[in-house]
Amino acid sequence: MIKSVAGIAVLPVHRASCHCGAIVLELDLPDGIVDPRRCNCSMCRRRGAIVGSVPLAGLRIIEGAEQLRLYQFNTFTARHYFCGRCGIYTHHQRRSNPEQYGYNVGCLEGIDPLALGEVPTSDGVHHPADHADRGL
Ligand SMILES: [Zn+2]
Repeated sequence: MIKSVAGIAVLPVHRASCHCGAIVLELDLPDGIVDPRRCNCSMCRRRGAIVGSVPLAGLRIIEGAEQLRLYQFNTFTARHYFCGRCGIYTHHQRRSNPEQYGYNVGCLEGIDPLALGEVPTSDGVHHPADHADRGL
């Protein structure tokens, strides 16, 4: 868990916003930024964001719900949300764990995601749900 980034505290309830500010989220981060990672799947390799995790109940859309757009592909399980005005990815409901949202660490107000340094990369190309029969 990461409770501060470059001297900036991650608050127990931290706001996140898209670039244009239309969408504002409130995230419950009592343990700071949990499990930040990149991913090499066809979506994430293009998006490039560092993603943190929160339980579904730990994310609230407090402004701009009407601006959120939904993008789905492949199995149409994951729900990827982005701002319809500025195009910035804010969060997604996971396919690997539908009880969690992933969120864009770069949207956390005041937090510089690049100051996290190296973060692990998930092997989304070989998604566990695509290989259940092989036990991967
Ligand atoms: Zn926006």
